[in-house]
Amino acid sequence: MADPSTAPGPSGKLVIRNIGLLLSGDLQNPILDANTIIAENGRITFIGTHTNADPTGATCTVDAKGAALAPGLIDSHVHPVAGDWTPRQNQMGWIESSLHGGVTTMISAGEVHMPGRPKDIVGLKAAAIAAQRSFANLRPGGVKVLAGAPVIEHGMEEEDFRILAESGVTLLGEVGLGSVKDGATARKMVAWARKFGIQSTIHTGGPSIPGSGLIGKDIVLEADADVIGHINGGHTALPDRDITCLCEQCGRGLELVHNGNERAALHTLRVARDMNQLHRVILGTDSPAGSGVQPLGILRMIAMLSSLGGVPAEQAFCFATGNTARMRNLESGLIEPGRAADFVLLDRPQHSAGAHLLESVQLGDLPGIGMTIIDGLVRTGRSRNTPPAERVPEIIQSK
Ligand SMILES: [Zn+2]
Repeated sequence: MADPSTAPGPSGKLVIRNIGLLLSGDLQNPILDANTIIAENGRITFIGTHTNADPTGATCTVDAKGAALAPGLIDSHVHPVAGDWTPRQNQMGWIESSLHGGVTTMISAGEVHMPGRPKDIVGLKAAAIAAQRSFANLRPGGVKVLAGAPVIEHGMEEEDFRILAESGVTLLGEVGLGSVKDGATARKMVAWARKFGIQSTIHTGGPSIPGSGLIGKDIVLEADADVIGHINGGHTALPDRDITCLCEQCGRGLELVHNGNERAALHTLRVARDMNQLHRVILGTDSPAGSGVQPLGILRMIAMLSSLGGVPAEQAFCFATGNTARMRNLESGLIEPGRAADFVLLDRPQHSAGAHLLESVQLGDLPGIGMTIIDGLVRTGRSRNTPPAERVPEIIQSK
């Protein structure tokens, strides 16, 4: 096992063979006809068959034992604060625990649970830059946490966004969680952020905690953030007709979260499918939340959308991998040469009614995880959180 908090810059050659099912993360072609992957220095260099692979010089060889391999899951909506501690439920280890749910990348929607969170402009910029640096330097369990997502407040000027961008900030926290709750101001600041390469997301629906407010469809449309954050509510959802309107009138990302309204998530899914725009669907947990931390939250969303929403399981995995990677310009999330070697190996859980992984997910069961890999380094073996997988990969050579 690698040092769990290893920073970027791995070296070595990883060979994974006997992959029983290769999920690509690409909605257009979700299953690849290959059984072997090679990664060198943390990047995918080969996807193909065992007979064509060149394992010479491997520093680690994994026998997948017929289990499936997918890109590491991406949680598009989390609220980290400091290291692997969350004050929301005063809990330690929530990020590392999510790794045991297959999550290898998390994206901050704002460090809004920070005790005494500064709301003055100098303070919020400093806090965002500090969070970005902190999570760039520390990866709990190895998980990549993209953090440093300031929440916009009245009084910010274009220059503030330029300074944030130049300082390494790439994300805005949820628009609407600060004092800016009107469409016109949100639109102006979202545009400034976009001008400097900062991606934005907006809180959608009723207030999440006392002190936050309703963000309705008209504000979401006017603000035009890059991602319609938790379009299924966080937790309180907009009426179905407003969700439909957002799907149809705004071409941005449709984010479905675990700590949201599940029925509204299924409604959004149906609308997106009817529009033939499933590529816009991405998944998050919005944890830590009032309901706690859900280390299996992304897997639960995949199983829920597949089993109740009627989406083939191999497509549902794309919502949490390739769709998010493309929308958020990540190096992981797709099984393609040159991409980061971030993987989750999984199989049907023992005693599932489903005969294989995809069928078990379509029946609503959660997969069993047997191994996680980030930047070509094995991070965990059999998950301590999922039901036990039928087949578990094994490291057969390591030096
Ligand atoms: Zn929210």
